[in-house]
Amino acid sequence: MFIGHFAVGFGAKRFAPRSSMAVLLAAPQLADILWPIFVLTGWEQVRIDPGNTRFTPLDFVSYPWSHSLLMLCVWATAFGAIYYALSRYWPGTVAIWIGVVSHWVLDWVTHRPDMPLYPGGARYGLGLWNSIAGTMAVEILMFAAGVWMYARATRAKDRIGRYAFVAYVVLLLVIYIADAFGPPPESVAEIAWTAVAAVVVLIPWAWWFDRHRSSKDKPA
Ligand SMILES: [Zn+2]
Repeated sequence: MFIGHFAVGFGAKRFAPRSSMAVLLAAPQLADILWPIFVLTGWEQVRIDPGNTRFTPLDFVSYPWSHSLLMLCVWATAFGAIYYALSRYWPGTVAIWIGVVSHWVLDWVTHRPDMPLYPGGARYGLGLWNSIAGTMAVEILMFAAGVWMYARATRAKDRIGRYAFVAYVVLLLVIYIADAFGPPPESVAEIAWTAVAAVVVLIPWAWWFDRHRSSKDKPA
């Protein structure tokens, strides 16, 4: 799952209006932020295997540290604890915890049974990725709902707040569709470095447009 994770971050703003979107989006993405790093260091393995599921050419051979339910609970607690120590803001802390763990649930829906409960444990997955139409319907609907919640919970203070946000949403949709219908990646290194580059661009960008929008205290 890709933009479905962003949906969770966008939706969280309503419940944690004082938290930056950089943090609220990083939480549900955390598994996919750690994963390319662990792939590059060789702790986790992925293989390019066109047709593995209809939606993705990737075979997630092993990713216990970034993608097991147990480790995501550990990462969620660590991220939440650091955030709470710095901010003393409970709604944001809770949104982070739920966001990080939500990654497992959403990937469990889309992946074939490769999502471990704990490192070395049984692996599960409902395999929505075997249907391109089903995957896109679920993810785009989720994304639309999350973006709509964010747009209602906040208000643009200036042109950056409006257009940098709209451009962000459009770019994510374009990447998502291009990824779904584009050719498979050439190498594992290309997958990992593309994922790292996406994080480096998308998280600060979210921080930027979010600073140019104000939260409505009482959503109408
Ligand atoms: Zn993932």
